[in-house]
Amino acid sequence: MIKRILVTGGAGFLGSHICERLVADGQDVICLDNLFTSQKSNIEHLLGRSNFEFIRHDVTHPIFLEVDEVYNLACPAAPGHYQFNPIKTMKTSVLGAINVLGMAKRVKAKVLHTSTSEVYGDPTIHPQPESYRGNVNPIGPRACYDEGKRAAETLMFDYKRQNGVDVRVVRIFNTYGPRMHPYDGRVVSNFIRQALADEDITIYGDGSQSRSFCYRDDLVEAIIRMMDLPPGFAGPVNIGNPGEFTIRELAEQVVEISGSKSQIVVARPLPEDDPLQRQPDISLAKEKLGWEPQIALREGLAKTIEWFRSVDLDAFRAPTPNY
Ligand code: NAD
Ligand code: UDP
Repeated sequence: MIKRILVTGGAGFLGSHICERLVADGQDVICLDNLFTSQKSNIEHLLGRSNFEFIRHDVTHPIFLEVDEVYNLACPAAPGHYQFNPIKTMKTSVLGAINVLGMAKRVKAKVLHTSTSEVYGDPTIHPQPESYRGNVNPIGPRACYDEGKRAAETLMFDYKRQNGVDVRVVRIFNTYGPRMHPYDGRVVSNFIRQALADEDITIYGDGSQSRSFCYRDDLVEAIIRMMDLPPGFAGPVNIGNPGEFTIRELAEQVVEISGSKSQIVVARPLPEDDPLQRQPDISLAKEKLGWEPQIALREGLAKTIEWFRSVDLDAFRAPTPNY
């Protein structure tokens, strides 16, 4: 049966791919976005479709829609974006969750919330299982995002316990791929842009900090599987690629794959509270979703570099001066 599905943050990097997949599956899709960190070109190809509509709206304000499912992605995700207006970031996570959950309660919709590995902060346990409660600095520059996302998780589980809302929470680890904002300041987009222009590759700190990078197709598949599970398992569940790389190793791979002449340089000290290591324990995702990533970093980077080569970078508006 056709479902009416709301995707908040649906014009963004991950949201637009979820919309695309749901439209292709024949669902009735509403994409809601204020276009803070994205632009309509991400969903341009869907705009003429009869089972797709776009609503320009800010999730910090209530909205009333009759839907069966909600994918809640609205929130700036790149450090430069979420630190640009930290109070707004916290409002987006918290008021956005309250507005989505209030609506879901009224119309008995399922809600899948996209949380983040940032709920683990600078982790003291490695790799991170869902049972780890994290090491977040509540007053640092990343707190607006980390604590906002933690509060949103709290709201999800309180609406489940108190109001019986069918919620599902995924904790996403660094994800990259075509359609990520070229000027989002995240490490993959920065390095690829720099490599393609033969500019210096800017490592922050000594480059020994690690991240685990998941290709967007793997991520989208896991998210859809989580939404489609029968009621019962609400998560939180880690979604990410356990392949862990230092930032220097990432820089080397980008230079090599793109055939760039760029030099790898230490551009500035490690930003405050920048996590030193990050790697998902995905045992739970394997067990509950029958899922594990299929696309290795090298292959995903090649596809992403290809996309960066194919787009006109001047056609993108930098959302904030923070890159
Ligand atoms: P993105 O910035 O491309 O997408 C976020 C979207 O939300 C954008 O289209 C933006 O315009 C919209 N938005 C922001 N504030 C809004 C508001 N107040 N009202 C309505 N729309 C608003 O980032 P993304 O990487 O696609 O991230 C999507 C979600 O996944 C986010 O919630 C993010 O926290 C989560 N996540 C992403 C990653 C990752 O590595 N990409 C990792 C962890 C969690
Ligand atoms: N980073 C870097 N150079 C850049 C951008 C980021 O060395 O040009 C580092 C950043 O300090 C962090 C890692 O790369 O250690 C990942 O940063 P990103 O902003 O992509 O995401 P995070 O996982 O920190 O939210």
